[in-house]
Amino acid sequence: MQFEIKELERHPIDFKEEFAPEALDLGPDARQITALKASGRAQLVEEHEGRHHTIQDIRVNGKLRTRLELPCARCLDPVTYDVNRDFDLLYRPQGSDTGREELSVTAAEAEVSYYQGDGLALEDVVREQVLLAVPLKTICREDCKGLCPHCGKNLNNEQCSCAEPAEDARWSALKDLRSKLQH
Ligand SMILES: [Zn+2]
Ligand SMILES: [Zn+2]
Repeated sequence: MQFEIKELERHPIDFKEEFAPEALDLGPDARQITALKASGRAQLVEEHEGRHHTIQDIRVNGKLRTRLELPCARCLDPVTYDVNRDFDLLYRPQGSDTGREELSVTAAEAEVSYYQGDGLALEDVVREQVLLAVPLKTICREDCKGLCPHCGKNLNNEQCSCAEPAEDARWSALKDLRSKLQH
């Protein structure tokens, strides 16, 4: 779904869209495992720039929900993560406010992004919001033991023989050296 400036000049656009599972490309780590539902409204907001010029912003507000699968930061097992997000965004034309401070809508009032050309795709709005909702670090459970740094086994499921690390060879070499120096 596309919000075209020409259409927005005539009327706001209400939307209610569903994106099939996996429809959004969220990069290598996150997968969208349920349908994503998004609803809300897009409308034109005119900002006055000086006395003679106005720029056309697109304000998009609404909500979305979906479920993601993310890798556990310690053991890499998949973890499900629910996204339930309200948003209120302002898109300015790309390049419109470089070095201009006097625009009437300030960044404090809404999150500001940019659109290119004649409009904005709902899919891009939604993808960006989902990516913003992804936590920096997800773990499958508080006491996840993670992977063994030596053999790579998942220590939640199995023990490995490197669990009790033998004395590191580099340390014994140092010890040898020290005992030689002391004599
Ligand atoms: Zn884990
Ligand atoms: Zn191991």
